[in-house]
Amino acid sequence: MRRFTEKKLVIATHNAGKLREIAELLAPYGVEVVSAGELGLPEPEETGSTFVENAELKARAAAMAAKLPALADDSGMAVDGLGGLPGIYSARWAGPSKDFGLAMAKVHDALNSQNPGGEADRSARFVCALSLCWPDGEIITFEGVVHGELVWPPRGENGFGYDPMFLPQGSRQTFGEMDADAKHAISHRAEAFRKMVDALFA
Ligand code: IMP
Repeated sequence: MRRFTEKKLVIATHNAGKLREIAELLAPYGVEVVSAGELGLPEPEETGSTFVENAELKARAAAMAAKLPALADDSGMAVDGLGGLPGIYSARWAGPSKDFGLAMAKVHDALNSQNPGGEADRSARFVCALSLCWPDGEIITFEGVVHGELVWPPRGENGFGYDPMFLPQGSRQTFGEMDADAKHAISHRAEAFRKMVDALFA
């Protein structure tokens, strides 16, 4: 398999939370990271029907535009009691103002309205597809998942997105209550990342 030998890598995301986590995870490998925002790259429309398709289209668009290797993450939270929603629509449930308080309330309300008077299935998972594309078009993708359940009300101010309502299996803290290192020890993004590092960087 091709190794990653370049010095510079574009992080193909306009999401500040993801950018921070990916930069933290990459820190030990001495790669200079530059964000899609810093390069003024456009945000491609996520037209794929899976996390992998969306990660690959974002990585490919950034690598071609920047003429540099690019890493993209497509991720989201799939709730069993909602048939896997919001899934690839996780960012879109927060609306144009990217209000995740609203998105978490939508998830909670949807679970309640689907199970009036009953116990909703609150099990959920975060999924991450991480794609690295070289400017010559070669692309490789890794996936990670973390299982847990949803709590209400949300707890904690750390992380981003749906973190405050997600209690990973075996933990007493939500992702919103954990510090960055604790989240990186078990998260979907860190799992995909470890697979990528083992294959391309180690
Ligand atoms: P997209 O990959 O750009 O479509 O956006 C994924 C969305 O899923 C983010 O905006 C978050 O709302 C959510 N998400 C993905 N990973 C995480 C995470 O680690 N914590 C909390 N929310 C996440």
